[in-house]
Amino acid sequence: MQAELFSKTTQGIDLHCHTTFSDGSLSPEELILLAEEYEISTLAISDHDSVAVHEYINQSDIKTKINLIPAIELSCRWHHDKQRLAKGEGMTLHIVGLNIDIENLALKKHIHLTQTARNERNEKIIQRMLKKGWHDVVALVENEHSLTRTHFAKAMLKTEKVTNYAQAFRKYLGQGKPLSTRTNWQDLQTTITAIHAAGGAAVLAHPLHYKLTRKKLLQLCTEFKMHGGDAIEVVSGNTLKTDIDNLTGIALRNDLKASVGSDFHGPERYKARLGVEQDIAKTLTPVWQEWT
Ligand code: AMP
Ligand code: MN
Ligand code: MN
Ligand code: MN
Repeated sequence: MQAELFSKTTQGIDLHCHTTFSDGSLSPEELILLAEEYEISTLAISDHDSVAVHEYINQSDIKTKINLIPAIELSCRWHHDKQRLAKGEGMTLHIVGLNIDIENLALKKHIHLTQTARNERNEKIIQRMLKKGWHDVVALVENEHSLTRTHFAKAMLKTEKVTNYAQAFRKYLGQGKPLSTRTNWQDLQTTITAIHAAGGAAVLAHPLHYKLTRKKLLQLCTEFKMHGGDAIEVVSGNTLKTDIDNLTGIALRNDLKASVGSDFHGPERYKARLGVEQDIAKTLTPVWQEWT
C-alpha cells in the first residue's frame, strides 16, 4: 500500500517488443496471444525500421482486447559534434516512435531511407561473409523481411561459426569487430521530426545500452530534449533498481516523460520476458497516459 504513494503502476503496459517482422521469434498472432496470457492491456509492437507488422495486423482478422499501439524502433545516428555529424559520423541510437500514423508520408519516406541504409550495411556484411567462405550463413538470411544482425548471429550459430549467440557479437558483429561496418542511418533530429510528423511520441530506447559515460549520457538526453524528444525508457527489460533511479533522475532533470518496455524478442532469450514488472516513480509523467 505504502509503495503506491510513491509509484505509478506499469502493470499491463509494454511499449517495446519485436515480432518475426524484424528480429523477434514470435509471429504477431503468437505475440498477441502471449500478451493476453500475461494480461497485458496496452502493447506497442516496435519492430526495427519497419511498420509492416502493423500493416499486416490491420489487414488480418486478429481480434484482441489489447490496446495495440502502432510503433516502430528506428535506428539513427548521433554525434555530439555537429560538424562530425554532418560528415556522416556518429554512434547508432534506437528511437522508439509510439502511437504513430503508419500511413504518414513523411514517416514512410524516412523509413525508406533508413531501410536503404540497412540494406547497404547488410550487403557489406554479406560480402565480407562470402569472402570468408560463409555461403551457408548467407543462404540462411536471404529471405528475411527486415534483416538484422540478430539474424546474422542466429545463422552463424546454426552453421557453427560460433559456439553461442553472444559470441557472434563479441567476435564478429559488435562495434569494432571484423564484420561491423558504419551505417549511414538518418540523424537523430531528422528521426524525431519524422516521428512527430506522424503524430507519434519519440522515445530514447534503452538509454544504458549505449555504454556512454555519465557525462555523454546527460549530453545525449539534453540534446534529445532540445530536438523535441518526448520520453526515455526508464525501464527496459530487467532494469536494475539503481538504474531505474538513475534514469528517473535524468528524465526529471530534462523534463522528459517516461516509457517502459521489455524489448522482448522471443521466449528463448531468458533476459527479457514480455511485460514490465517494475513500477515507476510517481514524479514521472508516463508517455502512455493519454492513450490508456
Ligand atoms: P541491427 O539493427 O541490424 O544492427 O541489429 C541490432 C539488433 O541486434 C538489436 O536490436 C539486438 O536485438 C541485437 N544485438 C545487438 N547487439 C547485441 C549483443 N551484443 N548481443 C545480443 N544481441 C545484440
Ligand atoms: Mn533487436
Ligand atoms: Mn534497440
Ligand atoms: Mn528493441
